[in-house]
Amino acid sequence: ETNKLKYRRVLLKLSGEALMGGGQFGIDIPTCEQFARAIAEAREAGAEICLVIGGGNIFRGVAGAAKGMERAQADSMGMLATVMNALAMQSVLENLGVPTRVQSALNMDAICEPYIRRRAHRHMEKGRVVIFAAGIGNPFFTTDTGAALRAIEMNCDALLKGTQVDGVYTADPKLDATATRYHQVAYQEILAKDLKVMDSSAVSLMRDNNIPIVVFSLKEEGSLLNVLYGRGTSTTITK
Ligand code: UDP
Repeated sequence: ETNKLKYRRVLLKLSGEALMGGGQFGIDIPTCEQFARAIAEAREAGAEICLVIGGGNIFRGVAGAAKGMERAQADSMGMLATVMNALAMQSVLENLGVPTRVQSALNMDAICEPYIRRRAHRHMEKGRVVIFAAGIGNPFFTTDTGAALRAIEMNCDALLKGTQVDGVYTADPKLDATATRYHQVAYQEILAKDLKVMDSSAVSLMRDNNIPIVVFSLKEEGSLLNVLYGRGTSTTITK
């Protein structure tokens, strides 16, 4: 069954906002549980999964800076927000019996492991879901870039970007009725047309390392499994 998977080892990027569910702020545990069930299912199908979760549901550096905070200081707060989300996902995954480890790019030894690449590899070999927190640990970056970097470091077959829509469109489908979805699109086209899928730094890292990005909807039941088996609706960003 495992060898039917199109992608065996993947990094799943969830935005912080995805964790809000129907809310306007913070962490909605039933929504986290829904993601955890999808991850558990994918793991049972034989996939090796690691996670990067954003922090936008709690705090974003640019928002703090817009209100007068020093940007680097605000970004530190954003990174702390991603740790909260990581701990929430760890808890709900472990409630389902999925073994996990949280590794943070900022050391917080009492609550999670520091990021150690080779140790993260070992966790994944043992079937643990590794949740990478605090992005890359530096201000002026985002968790999209963190996700790209970790996907490369963990030798992932793909970076899966879970969103509210089922792929990348030629224009915003909410604003433009003629917008159509790409089945496949080149990294370069995403960059040249400045299509807002992921940060350009994340897209260019993936391009330079030739790892596909699959953009898919988190809303549909079974969508993560569909991506892993190479079926269902999504957009693959590739060479
Ligand atoms: N952040 C950072 N460095 C990183 C990753 C994240 O400074 O490597 C900060 C930044 O302020 C960002 C916040 O953490 O706004 C939350 O991450 P992000 O905006 O990527 O979350 P998402 O949009 O995915 O919810």
